[in-house]
Amino acid sequence: MSSTSPYPNLELLPIAGQWRKGRSGRTLNVTDPFTGNTLLSVPMASREDLDEAYQGARAAQPAWAAMGPTARGDVMRRAVALFDARKDEIIDWLVRESGSTRIKAEVEWGSARAITQEAASLPGRAHGRILPSDVPGKESRVYRQPLGVVGVISPWNFPLHLSARSVAPALALGNAVVVKPASDTPVTGGLLLAHLFEEAGLPPGVLSVLVGAGSDIGDAFVEHPIPSFVSFTGSTAVGRNIGRIANAGEHLKHVALELGGNSPFVVLADADVETAVDAAVVGKFLHQGQICMAINRIIVEAPLVEEFTKRFVERVKALPYGDPGKPETIVGPVINERQLAGLKDKVAKAKEEGAKVLVGGEPQGNVMPPHVFGDVTAEMEIAREEIFGPLVGIQSARDADHALELANSSEYGLSSAVFTRDIARGVQFAQRVRAGMTHVNDMPVNDEANAPFGGEKNSGVGRFNGDWAIEEFTTDHWITVQTEPRGYPF
Ligand code: NAP
Ligand code: MG
Repeated sequence: MSSTSPYPNLELLPIAGQWRKGRSGRTLNVTDPFTGNTLLSVPMASREDLDEAYQGARAAQPAWAAMGPTARGDVMRRAVALFDARKDEIIDWLVRESGSTRIKAEVEWGSARAITQEAASLPGRAHGRILPSDVPGKESRVYRQPLGVVGVISPWNFPLHLSARSVAPALALGNAVVVKPASDTPVTGGLLLAHLFEEAGLPPGVLSVLVGAGSDIGDAFVEHPIPSFVSFTGSTAVGRNIGRIANAGEHLKHVALELGGNSPFVVLADADVETAVDAAVVGKFLHQGQICMAINRIIVEAPLVEEFTKRFVERVKALPYGDPGKPETIVGPVINERQLAGLKDKVAKAKEEGAKVLVGGEPQGNVMPPHVFGDVTAEMEIAREEIFGPLVGIQSARDADHALELANSSEYGLSSAVFTRDIARGVQFAQRVRAGMTHVNDMPVNDEANAPFGGEKNSGVGRFNGDWAIEEFTTDHWITVQTEPRGYPF
């Protein structure tokens, strides 16, 4: 495929302004999760490459930050135009490298584009303040400054979107960035973006990409003294470790952690069942359920359980699964065999714990057919753990208070949803859910470039998008000017 690409040589890494091979001596085979075919072999980065990338970023950052807001915004605007011009190739890579269905690839392309467009407006929105001062003759100013160099680590599920949501605002706000994409998705998680931004006029060295295993270069990536901020999106286990390293005495750097989820989808007894079923099907099965915000638990108030379950099961049984490249496919492959093995264990465990299989089937290759379980209780593993696959259980709640209690009985608090015909009641319910995001009468899968994205509890720290990206990717510098001699006490 790379031979027909406008971006040839995708096996090369942009490191400190040069496109070259990684020097670890190890090669990463990038595979198509549906066919198993090798798409590309990428020589991986070494620790010396990592150091070079960070040094190059530090050297390139001041001149980039000194470019005016319009010039930095222009790079983002040209990148948006390239998202449009290169759309077919981007979609194709998302389908092949990450097993995205066409529908999901379109959604992801749109989100990455919107975030880059939003980033174009950020340079002009990052303003300081003048504060009143108690000291006569003092002018008290707060300057909003870039952080300097930012490290970004991204996952494989929405690689383009979840890299772009840190990379684009961080760059737009005058930082230099080094990205480490997930090893399943080095192209869509980093290399394509680097080509797009280079073509859009980003100066050399401002963005480097390190392809390498998290287990190999992950700690060094976070520990390196140059980045003052690390933006991580991925699992809670790895995120915890990164938080620990970043805050260990000798480092003290800021981190943003966007971690796992266990979204409850609550259907109250006065809900419109049809609308709720439509939302549940998409909120569960988009990208095979491999979304941090995906529905992990369906919680239905007792009077509606039977009707909801019947209609939901009917819809799920009809979902076409298989080749993600076919436009009609709704459920494609999961990312790799390891994930598939984990999902098979979850299915076995659910059966063993007494959940009733309402929809099931055997995997074909990496394609796991959609599964629905009834008679699920809060104690079962499929309710307690993040699933990250096309499986879901339905729990029955005695009443709305019980539904809320069930919804909140999780270590996670990322997204959530509640269905009711009474909007005021829906909002009151939403306010009592301990989560960063709750949607009334919609699925929990929502992400907009100007709205705060992030979680509570073990789902992370920090918020992305819009004004919140300005908070994350800049820092305040208090500078005062004493304009007349000060009356010191001694
Ligand atoms: P993961 O295993 O935590 O990997 C995420 C990234 O961390 C990858 O780039 C990985 O590199 C890297 N990594 C692995 N070990 C590392 C280490 N010791 N130090 C530094 N980096 C390391 O997560 P995943 O399996 O890719 O993604 C699924 C998880 O991400 C789910 O839990 C999901 O909920 C969460 N997620 C959260 C959000 C959100 O916005 N909250 C969005 C998407 C996904 P390698 O690939 O080389 O191992
Ligand atoms: Mg792959």
